[in-house]
Amino acid sequence: MGLIIRSSAIHAAGCYTTTSVRKGTRVAEYTGRRLSKDEADACYEDQPITYLFGLGDGSIVIDGHCAAMFINHSCNANCETSEEDDRVWITAIKDIAAGEELTYDYCLYDGGDDEAICNCGAANCRGTMYSKEEIRRRKAAAKKAAKKKRSKRKTGKSTRPAKGKSTRAAKNGAA
Ligand SMILES: [Zn+2]
Repeated sequence: MGLIIRSSAIHAAGCYTTTSVRKGTRVAEYTGRRLSKDEADACYEDQPITYLFGLGDGSIVIDGHCAAMFINHSCNANCETSEEDDRVWITAIKDIAAGEELTYDYCLYDGGDDEAICNCGAANCRGTMYSKEEIRRRKAAAKKAAKKKRSKRKTGKSTRPAKGKSTRAAKNGAA
């Protein structure tokens, strides 16, 4: 099995397999230095793009430095991520032909004001790379904020949304 990084229609660079991959095969490990969430927050406060992957309850993140960090998100992915003994693996969930781009669902969380818009183009695209749980959480928070705003009768102050840094999560991870 070989992985190559080249430009992608989904986003910037993507990760492609040069050989066919059978469903159930581990294609890559998500590796990089381990940081505490606080360290990562301090490092990447104003960075629009990060390659952070949350482990367990999210208190430790992997700061991606590997081929797997280039794998793009898709709402109709051909791989998924799983956590095992504090390591993150990317596994094929479909048979993948040689030359195809590898994708997995980022299940993003903790993205601040960033909307994490998804450009995967899948028929079932949910429009954002946030996890379903995170979408619910953000909707609830927005509702709460709107209520607060109304009760305060603040006049419209338009603030440019700050770019957030979001963290990826494994399907079986916390987040
Ligand atoms: Zn999508």
